[in-house]
Amino acid sequence: MDLTRTDLYLDGQWVTPAATDTIPVENPTTEQVIGTVPAGTSADVDRAVAAARTAFDSWAATDPADRAAALDRLHGALAARGDEIARTVALELGTPLKVATRVQTGLPLAVLRSYVELAAEPPASHLVGNSLVVREPVGVVGAITPWNYPLHQVVAKVAPALAAGCTVVLKPSELTPLVAYLLFDAIDEAGLPPGVVNLVTGTGPVVGEAIAAHGGVDMVSFTGSTATGRRISHLAADRIARVALELGGKSANVILDDADLTAAVKTGVGNALLNSGQTCTAWTRMLVHRSRYDEALALAARAAEGYQLGDPFDSATRLGPLVSAAQRDRVRGHVEQGLADGARLVTGGPDAKLPERGHFVAPTVFADVDPDGALAQEEIFGPVLVVIPFDDDDHAVEVANNSRYGLAGAVWSGDDNRALAVARRMRTGAVDINGAPFNPLAPFGGYKQSGLGRELGTFGLDEFLQTKAIQR
Ligand code: NAD
Repeated sequence: MDLTRTDLYLDGQWVTPAATDTIPVENPTTEQVIGTVPAGTSADVDRAVAAARTAFDSWAATDPADRAAALDRLHGALAARGDEIARTVALELGTPLKVATRVQTGLPLAVLRSYVELAAEPPASHLVGNSLVVREPVGVVGAITPWNYPLHQVVAKVAPALAAGCTVVLKPSELTPLVAYLLFDAIDEAGLPPGVVNLVTGTGPVVGEAIAAHGGVDMVSFTGSTATGRRISHLAADRIARVALELGGKSANVILDDADLTAAVKTGVGNALLNSGQTCTAWTRMLVHRSRYDEALALAARAAEGYQLGDPFDSATRLGPLVSAAQRDRVRGHVEQGLADGARLVTGGPDAKLPERGHFVAPTVFADVDPDGALAQEEIFGPVLVVIPFDDDDHAVEVANNSRYGLAGAVWSGDDNRALAVARRMRTGAVDINGAPFNPLAPFGGYKQSGLGRELGTFGLDEFLQTKAIQR
């Protein structure tokens, strides 16, 4: 199988990159290269930004109904590629096909659909005394995205940016760039005006930095690690460009003593293991009332052991590989360090049986971890769960908030008001009570070092708008 793509998408056309270097794309299950994509350069970024700048004035002035119609055509073209999208994500990332279909394909389509509707409503202007306050698009957006939800993270930026009237230069992750090509096939088919969305593939240090530092980019919207977010903020700060950052997490799943423990642990383990634990919002710290700690550990072990590792295309598989050998080694390093630091292994760990090939790590549960130690504090980004006891609700909140991150979280209780009171005290961007479903229209983003700004729904649209006051 060769899924090689040779071109970049600039100014409404597939074009040859300035240089001939390429980046291999690996299938993490078979460890085979399945294709290459161009290793773009700063010269390609210059062309992309010039195209986006030229396109901006007319796209910003386009009637919102016409922008909505363009996004609707894009939605149709993307939905028609649904099966190919799911298969591509299963191939380049290793997400089991069922999850790749439901989450990696279904979620971005739902998000895009939501912006077809939001694009049609022009941002409201209103009067404040003698001022007319109007909302206007920020300008050219540089979008830089990671590999773990490779289409969703792109759509969560491109769709609201276009809906707001901005134009975009996108750099997807070099580890999973193939699904972004499917989006640009759809963009091409949908006939969006030239220059409105541009694709430059390449590495972070070359293409990512060129975008973040480019004087023609008005805003950088980034999803990825906190370390890279910090670097991008420094580059953007030199010219006071706006940044939106969706960064890492180490979210707490707080299970109070009156919770339905079976449901809370089962859903909690499933959340921590989703996409092999490569999920920024994963509830990787399970906090359990001390009176139910041993019971929870037994339930967590049983749930984790039920996750069959294997080929993403095998319908029995519930957990695929990690994205790369480097990521697998990082995660294994955390597990080994945790053992060396004295944590108690409940299930999984370095000696668990694994498929012969592929970058697999067994689902791993730890007890008795030091709440201030690396296992409880570092974002591991693999199938590793730590279970920590607490004594009462105040203590639960204190442990939950003992993190430099604040992206997501959960509370379980038989008493909705008690759960709500705990949820409100958690310093984090989102909290799910008793397994409530994900809402693609709700604001998504982080407190503390989990980021700046919000994505999705109207909050996501607002990120791409400026505010102007006109006095009369
Ligand atoms: P990463 O920071 O290594 O890379 C993200 C993107 O930034 C990639 O496209 C990469 O090429 C680019 N990049 C790397 N170095 C760069 C630089 N110096 N300048 C500009 N761009 C650069 O992150 P990753 O490993 O791809 O993704 C995993 C991380 O993303 C985790 O920390 C995870 O929590 C986070 N994440 C956050 C969210 C969220 O919404 N909060 C969502 C998904 C993932």
